[in-house]
Amino acid sequence: MPQASADTPPPRIGIVSLGCAKALVDSERIISALRARGYAFAPDHAGADAVIVNTCGFLDSARAESLGAISEALAENGKVIVTGCLGAEPQALAEHAEKLIAITGPARVHEVISALEQAVPPPHDAKLDILPPGGLKLTPPHYAYLKISEGCSNKCTFCIIPRLRGPLASRPAADVRAEAEELAARGVKELLVVSQDTAAYGQDMRYAAGHWQGHPMRTHITDLVRELGGMFPWLRLHYLYPYPVIDELVQLMAEGIALPYLDVPFQHASPAVLKAMRRPANTEKTLEQIERWRAICPDVAIRSTFIVGFPGETEADFAELLDFLRTTRIDRVGCFVYEHVQGAAANDLPGAVPAEVAEERRAALMALQEEISAAKLAEKIGRRATVLVDEIDEENDLVVARAPWDAPEVDGMVLISREHVSNAAPGDFLEVRITAAETHDLWAEPVETAAANRGAGQT
Ligand code: SF4
Repeated sequence: MPQASADTPPPRIGIVSLGCAKALVDSERIISALRARGYAFAPDHAGADAVIVNTCGFLDSARAESLGAISEALAENGKVIVTGCLGAEPQALAEHAEKLIAITGPARVHEVISALEQAVPPPHDAKLDILPPGGLKLTPPHYAYLKISEGCSNKCTFCIIPRLRGPLASRPAADVRAEAEELAARGVKELLVVSQDTAAYGQDMRYAAGHWQGHPMRTHITDLVRELGGMFPWLRLHYLYPYPVIDELVQLMAEGIALPYLDVPFQHASPAVLKAMRRPANTEKTLEQIERWRAICPDVAIRSTFIVGFPGETEADFAELLDFLRTTRIDRVGCFVYEHVQGAAANDLPGAVPAEVAEERRAALMALQEEISAAKLAEKIGRRATVLVDEIDEENDLVVARAPWDAPEVDGMVLISREHVSNAAPGDFLEVRITAAETHDLWAEPVETAAANRGAGQT
């Protein structure tokens, strides 16, 4: 294969990363592998030697966005590799297939790299030492996502993830731990653990027991949280399917080992709809669970997502969902209107809900949630909290930070006037007192600047 010579500039690759945090981790693996081979990166398609589009294929709207990104890359560059969830469905890409260099499914880093090397040979003298240990990250330096498994073995009827990404496949605990060590050494302050089904970690390996640097460690989510919790000031867990093991995780949150943040997608509250979704459908049990979690860890913030307009959802089902929200007062809520996803079992269910009705339900749910969120945030006024600075907003002279109850990108912010903390920088921990609340965000002033103390912070 012909290769670029040592004194020519390295080939430049464009990357488009769409979809969820799991897909973002795949993109990080791809760019790390490219950098290790000596490739450089281009900020726009026109200046790139080839473009990799990491697609999302979960909802029709995400598929449309992915197809749009592929068309754009083809029009502006012409040499395009498609990877990610949409890549697992070649028929969805039929229109473009002939023009693409390669199509691969999600997490197929090696296939992407080998297709790219064929099309755009790497530089002759790629220097392996230009890659930081642990690979390149697309997140700011103070936080990072760590993917602990691929795929999912559940069978939710609205979801095609198990078909796209396969059944649950956990990474060996020592692997995960080694990557975490590299991130900690790099100065990451907040580690966000992601996967399709985080609480199920190790199920597929029968929770195999192993050793890490002389001490025993099972491939089990509670063992992993104990390990990781000792390595980062903040450890946040995402996407916890409501299994009984969550009680143990909440206990670890109460002990300050992980942030008191429970991201549990309940999806609905009506037993009839949950049954049709093939999700745990005993709502009374769920209410008891939530009460128990709050008894174990009173400060726990619960985040959840819901789907409205699922086939067969009646007004009574929807009213049940609203009642559930009024009763549980969940802290952070995302709501999606049900969409047909090609290949999902739910497509065959009767009782389609008209789009305008589903949209009205979504708006009503979010209006209720805004009231709940505003009231819950107002209850925090006067409290102290440790916050992590994400960015400095020069234009508005503000420090933009997050409290333990807020994940990046999806939750609220804590805003602090720079007048009080002129020297704060992204990645700093600050000790603040909450002074005012809005619907999703809080305002605060510093009480003292604190070095990273173990993620307790709330009093
Ligand atoms: S648990 Fe999540 S990823 Fe798995 S099938 Fe259900 S919705 Fe899909």
